[in-house]
Amino acid sequence: MERRIFGIETEYGISYVPDQLGPLGPEEAARILFKPVVESWRSTNVFLPNGSRLYLDVGSHPEYATAESANLRDLIAQDKAGEMLFADLLNQAQDTLEELGQQGRMYLFKNNVDSAGNSFGSHENFMIERKVEFAKLVRSLIPFLITRQIMVGAGKTHPTGPEQWGSTPVGVAGEPSFSFSQRADYIWEGASTATTRSRPLINTRDEPHADAQLYRRMHVINGDSNMSQTTTLLKIGATDIVLRMLEDHFPLANFEVKDTATALRVVSHDLTGTARFELADGSFKSALEMQRHYLSSAHKYIEQHGTHREDVPYILDLWKRALQAVETGDYSAIDTEIDWAIKKKLLDAYIARGASGYDDPRIQQLDLSYHDIDPDRGVFNVLAKAGRARSVVSAEAIEQATMVPPNTRAKIRGRFIAAARAAGEQFTVDWVHLRLNNKPQFNLQCKDPFESHSDEVQMLLNAMRQTTAEPWSPPFI
Ligand code: ATP
Ligand code: MG
Ligand code: MG
Repeated sequence: MERRIFGIETEYGISYVPDQLGPLGPEEAARILFKPVVESWRSTNVFLPNGSRLYLDVGSHPEYATAESANLRDLIAQDKAGEMLFADLLNQAQDTLEELGQQGRMYLFKNNVDSAGNSFGSHENFMIERKVEFAKLVRSLIPFLITRQIMVGAGKTHPTGPEQWGSTPVGVAGEPSFSFSQRADYIWEGASTATTRSRPLINTRDEPHADAQLYRRMHVINGDSNMSQTTTLLKIGATDIVLRMLEDHFPLANFEVKDTATALRVVSHDLTGTARFELADGSFKSALEMQRHYLSSAHKYIEQHGTHREDVPYILDLWKRALQAVETGDYSAIDTEIDWAIKKKLLDAYIARGASGYDDPRIQQLDLSYHDIDPDRGVFNVLAKAGRARSVVSAEAIEQATMVPPNTRAKIRGRFIAAARAAGEQFTVDWVHLRLNNKPQFNLQCKDPFESHSDEVQMLLNAMRQTTAEPWSPPFI
């Protein structure tokens, strides 16, 4: 597909650390976090004027789903805008806690595992054409998804070493260690409609959020949440290129893996990238061997088909540098651009200065704090401000993205929401539908996510604006 729609959903970890009084359970903490949202929107499940969705699902993990974006820079700005919105809610929650006499701090982490060992996700959404043979596309994409973690994982420490299971050794048993991925240890199969029990790499539930005759949605649920913008750019950009190759039937090796769960764990816990795991045909391959094949194929494909996005040269270059870094063990060429390498550099510096190793409680704390979304306290954010983590989207663009939708269907939705709120109209929206509750004749479907203008909505906006006494400004949380 020449053009594509992208979206990222992020579930956040929430915790409250008391100074004196007893702890607040995550449900109570999430309720306090969402208090301003409920006061303003009378719901914990809302679409905002920037086209995104902010909600509290079962399990109390606050979630932000970006508006649908048609280019990667917009997607990154929207994803980072989610952190900014939650940081704002976190500030307000802190005030509420103080009013309640609670002495302590609330934290939100953009990571994938909590202290009790529960995993929560980051979902990537790629629009694809319905005419592409879905089952085959999924099968061919899985080996790429299993091995891309060596470039785009968020990194994780394991104080008691990698968990062993099955007959294939995973890393070195019992030794405190560092893995590429946060999420790899929690995925059990390739593709299915289950999302929690036997969690797959790809959720095959058929919900395109678009014209179902024309499109499907590739819903990838095994990736780590990334703090680094450049890591997100590589994660989504490289996956987009591999999808394009598969859609165009560009020749790629068949790397069908024998056992997804084993391969994911073996790859995540082997920092050399050379540990081999079994393929369905009985042969053995390593993550580096497979990723080298994908990268050289991507180069050939782009040479033949041309660059389809502004960032493709950078994506290919960072992909190459990441593989070289894993191969040589010299991470200096990626340690401001790839999450696991940025984090590892920091942790290793602390260990060199006296921390005992990956099991040291201070190292554990730093690992967690890397994902703290607070702009002044969060370790990644502090590193970024000190120029030790590269960005591609400016702070101004991110701030703007908290208010302004990308130039897709999200623009129609965002303007509709802002206008309906300004006019005091009750409304119901989802990714496709826009409804005014008291005007049943206004019930619009936007089935084309590339469409950023609708005459029908424009007429309604004009009408609503004329009846609005207040000056028209997009309301916010
Ligand atoms: P769940 O939360 O159970 O995974 P879900 O994936 O349907 O369900 P949302 O959390 O609402 O639900 O997120 C949907 C994501 O899909 C958003 O990030 C959005 O931008 C993206 N999206 C919307 N329309 C499309 C589309 N046509 N193609 C690809 N992605 C889309
Ligand atoms: Mg979701
Ligand atoms: Mg999802």
